[in-house]
Amino acid sequence: MKSSVLVINCGSSSIKYALVPGAEGQPRLAGVAERVGSSDAFLKGIDSRGEHFEEILPGADHTRALEAIFEHLEGRRPDVVGHRIVHGGEHFTRAALINDDVVTAIDQTAALAPLHNSANLEGIAATRALFPDLPQVAVFDTAFHQSMPPRAFRYALPEALYRDHGIRRYGFHGTSHAFVSARADALSGIAGGWLTAHLGNGCSTCAVWEGRSLDTSMGLTPLEGLTMGTRSGDVDPGLHAHLARQLGWSLQRIDEVLNRGSGLLGLSGLTNDMRELEAAAQAGHENARLSIEVFCYRIAKSLAALSCALPRLDGIVFTGGIGENSALVRENVIGHLPHFGLVLDRNANTETVRGREGRIDSGHLAAPRLWVIPTDEEGRIAAETRQLLDETTP
Ligand code: AMP
Repeated sequence: MKSSVLVINCGSSSIKYALVPGAEGQPRLAGVAERVGSSDAFLKGIDSRGEHFEEILPGADHTRALEAIFEHLEGRRPDVVGHRIVHGGEHFTRAALINDDVVTAIDQTAALAPLHNSANLEGIAATRALFPDLPQVAVFDTAFHQSMPPRAFRYALPEALYRDHGIRRYGFHGTSHAFVSARADALSGIAGGWLTAHLGNGCSTCAVWEGRSLDTSMGLTPLEGLTMGTRSGDVDPGLHAHLARQLGWSLQRIDEVLNRGSGLLGLSGLTNDMRELEAAAQAGHENARLSIEVFCYRIAKSLAALSCALPRLDGIVFTGGIGENSALVRENVIGHLPHFGLVLDRNANTETVRGREGRIDSGHLAAPRLWVIPTDEEGRIAAETRQLLDETTP
């Protein structure tokens, strides 16, 4: 029987978890502890009967929140824990069995993602202390993109910045791009060339050829690339100096505005929630309409740019909260790419909703395929965790 995997995604104030069973047909248990470290910390999730629960955990730190998560596993003890780690730098090209050396290496890449990696390490430390006899595996968001060639991952900056400081493009959302492109291969019966668009609160595109990432829209940090919920995506690199010189903005303020006050939220002045933006645009809110227009145009532009990485384009895959749900966004993106010969089936597009896989092109043999594929990052992390465990267990 396959191992059951507890997938942990530990942030600075939240811990998402999913117990992915080894046996077919067993339900997945999943939930999230939020406001960890504060007086109003709580845990909510879904049990094996599909019912929702919520428990308040006043003052719970990461260790206490993890204990509470274990108490909600209904006695189902995992065989292994798989940790989602945001940044693996160049050190990790695939998942790794966690030991002291691996922890040190993750710590050494923390300069590239200070908030994320240190929170991930806190989760690892707490889980190892609580369950010292459980094997633990680190699965990296960046690892899938380590197959990018230098022409895609290097910035045109002085070589020493790369050599001495690791300044290059890394890419993120690797587990999602890996999952949906593998699924597109399986559904289409080919090892294809796919452009994948992960469109959620964070957004990125990826060019995947025969299961390998050849280029992606995010870079050194998850700020590069597409317009996102609250992140600006690409701006003129001269913007930072301009804001500092002309408006006297501090680095902290620039960082804050570009990461948390921009994107759909900044453009619309309303919200980062695409559902609300679609409703507001329909009701005549001009900036909501504009934010959707910019969002879709930037996605199309990114897909067109990434197509240069592929020897052949077999299709485009949409995923993430917006990619899986918004027929409007999909139609607008496809509308900006007439030269790709894409033929959208409008009925299939509007009928494909969250949780459902759907092919939304007309089925014309010469045209690239258009897929909507729900992402399953937990499932992919569990699969990579199992694979590594199988390889390392005699
Ligand atoms: P994620 O980060 O993948 O959970 O995606 C969050 C985004 O998906 C938010 O912008 C939501 O507004 C968007 N979303 C979820 N459901 C829908 C829907 N039915 N229509 C449009 N956008 C949606």
